[in-house]
Amino acid sequence: MRRISVFGSTGSIGCSTLDLIARRRDDFDVVALTGGRNIARLAEQARDLCPEIAVCAYEDDLPALRDALAGTKVETAAGRAAILDAARRPADWIMSGIVGSAGLEPGLIALEQGTTLALANKESLVCAGPLLMATAAEHRATILPVDSEHSAVFQALIGEDIAAVERIIITASGGAFRDWPKDKLARATPEQAATHPNWDMGQRITIDSASMFNKALELIETHEFFGIAPDRIEALVHPESMIHAMVGFSDGALMAHIGPPDMRHAIGFALNWPERRTLPVDRLDFAKLGQFTFRAPDEDKYPALRLAREVMRDGGLSGAVFNAAKERALDHFIAGRIGFLQMSELVERVLDRMTESRLGNDALSLDMVHDIDTQARRAADDLVPHLSA
Ligand code: NAD
Ligand code: MG
Repeated sequence: MRRISVFGSTGSIGCSTLDLIARRRDDFDVVALTGGRNIARLAEQARDLCPEIAVCAYEDDLPALRDALAGTKVETAAGRAAILDAARRPADWIMSGIVGSAGLEPGLIALEQGTTLALANKESLVCAGPLLMATAAEHRATILPVDSEHSAVFQALIGEDIAAVERIIITASGGAFRDWPKDKLARATPEQAATHPNWDMGQRITIDSASMFNKALELIETHEFFGIAPDRIEALVHPESMIHAMVGFSDGALMAHIGPPDMRHAIGFALNWPERRTLPVDRLDFAKLGQFTFRAPDEDKYPALRLAREVMRDGGLSGAVFNAAKERALDHFIAGRIGFLQMSELVERVLDRMTESRLGNDALSLDMVHDIDTQARRAADDLVPHLSA
């Protein structure tokens, strides 16, 4: 029996992970499930999979969680400290499926226990890539990327020498606005941005796909996880979302990873690694698909990609500033306080304002990341009234 925990179990990645676990429930002992505000879903999952403990993120939800799990053997707890404690429970594998920088610390704690970390939370690598990789190395813990593009690259690299990699191409669907002209984007609403043409994901990553901030995070994630130089990493718009990534080698060969847009492939690959097992994803019929198309991303329409390149060049705490500013920009957009195009303007202005504080910090600590995250969020809030109309 493998002991496994799912952080962010009530979200899109969490639910897909539990779907796979429930199909093979005799193989797994579920240790901890953690969620945010959706107590009904967390309780339903806990009743179904009988973890040792179910944890919700906010203490005011604890009575409701207790009530919903009354009569079961599942322990309950609430709050940030309880989530971190859950990460300390011995497990063989954990899914890091919390959204945002809140997912960093549970992942670090799991790595410190030597637990295999299935990493959907890309923000961890963006905020603190060197710290995460060093923690894994120190404790001989494995990180398995779960972002579809990064799982694809990981799979294309099996048995290969990383030194022979010439380029990595990660694909982008283009998100909700791929066919909109730039002038129309200024008036785009959160509802319009939160509909994805191909993938069914959480609200935040879906809007990040429309703004290309998701791809920007993924460029940085590729650089941090695989240690590939920024100028060897390319983003390519591929509206069909069937090719997830391509790895180009020094002999000119390209290995492409192809599959339907279903996160249960990448999650299942990480769950079964180092084996491959049957997974419940559609098999592609190429004759029916007919063709795959590609285009270069429009960097004028999507400044996020340029900003990601600047962040990779600057290193240190730039990624933490970038991510925190992006998270706040997204909060302000969802709340209707800023427009769609103002998100990248806000992130750029925060990066400019905080230039001094993010230089020369190659050895990151968690405290430094927390501190800069708080400062960058505050700077973003301060700058909102000063954005161009
Ligand atoms: P989601 O919003 O659907 O779910 C997020 C989960 O985190 C929920 O369980 C929520 O309750 C929990 N959560 C939110 N804030 C929290 C906090 N402060 N403390 C504790 N828990 C909190 O998001 P998602 O789409 O499942 O994405 C999860 C992560 O996976 C993100 O980092 C995202 O970028 C990444 N990812 C998602 C997909 C996808 O298909 N959904 C694909 C690739 C990568
Ligand atoms: Mg992705």
